[in-house]
Amino acid sequence: MLAASLLTLLAWGGAVAGIFLGQSRKLSSHLAVTGGILLFAIALFLVIPEVATRIGWTLAVMFSVAVCCGLVLLDRWLARGNHSPADVIGPLLAATAVHSLLDGWGVRVLSAQELTSIAVPLGLALHKLPEGLALGLITRRSMSPAGKALLASGAVEGFTVIGALIEPRADQLGATRFGDWWMGIVLAIIAGSFLFVGFHSVAPSRHNSRI
Ligand SMILES: [Zn+2]
Repeated sequence: MLAASLLTLLAWGGAVAGIFLGQSRKLSSHLAVTGGILLFAIALFLVIPEVATRIGWTLAVMFSVAVCCGLVLLDRWLARGNHSPADVIGPLLAATAVHSLLDGWGVRVLSAQELTSIAVPLGLALHKLPEGLALGLITRRSMSPAGKALLASGAVEGFTVIGALIEPRADQLGATRFGDWWMGIVLAIIAGSFLFVGFHSVAPSRHNSRI
């Protein structure tokens, strides 16, 4: 829980900077790329092999890549077209809430293993500040006054703590009902989310301010 709370604080700090100070994009993008690459490597070398022990390599790779592709498509949809900031802010906030839930869920569920208990919080910490900053910039552009943008960004990033809070009970219930498949699918979704964050942090950005 401590890790998830600290991650949420980092994201809130980023959101405040985005809303009230504008941008410090250079540092932010370096952090985002470092965190993204680290999370991509964690997904590839630690989480997907763990999924494979539960549901086999073929399904592990398929599910993780499918989740990543789904997130890429959603991101492209939000970034493209003639959407005005006001049009996309609802779906963007919803998508970021789900993403934050997975961040919190992931950091808690992967805290059980020695290597991931260090690597995952580190990768997420590097990625949370730029994530909050980008979210702050976007919400500020589409919402006024600034207090409303702050509230929306804070609430959305607060889902990180909710993810970490519900993880033990939800995973216990799921594992009891669905056996190994439950954790296999949960970890595949988290791996897909990490792959997406890594891909997104290095992909040529047509829209610098997206998350
Ligand atoms: Zn995140």
